[in-house]
Amino acid sequence: MSEEKACGVCESGWTDEVEAWLSVEVTADYDGPIYVEFCSQEHAAEWFTRPLPEPGGASGEPESFGARMILFGLAAVPLGILLLTVVGFATVLGWIW
Ligand SMILES: [Zn+2]
Repeated sequence: MSEEKACGVCESGWTDEVEAWLSVEVTADYDGPIYVEFCSQEHAAEWFTRPLPEPGGASGEPESFGARMILFGLAAVPLGILLLTVVGFATVLGWIW
């Protein structure tokens, strides 16, 4: 038993009978990546509906408002770029038409 897998939801151990183990790496900027494995896609989906596990140890405040805002900001940057691209295209189309 060198490498033990366990489902992040039902905690069932690894067996060859499970056809589709899912290995997921969740990267949160306030902590290192979280590695979770699931025995099924259903359990992966269930896990993702829950709040992320606390980063690292028990030290520090758990998922502060600031950390959430940083995450939101990181997500907003590519969305903003996408929006600007769309607006740019619309402007160019407006010139042509
Ligand atoms: Zn499971």
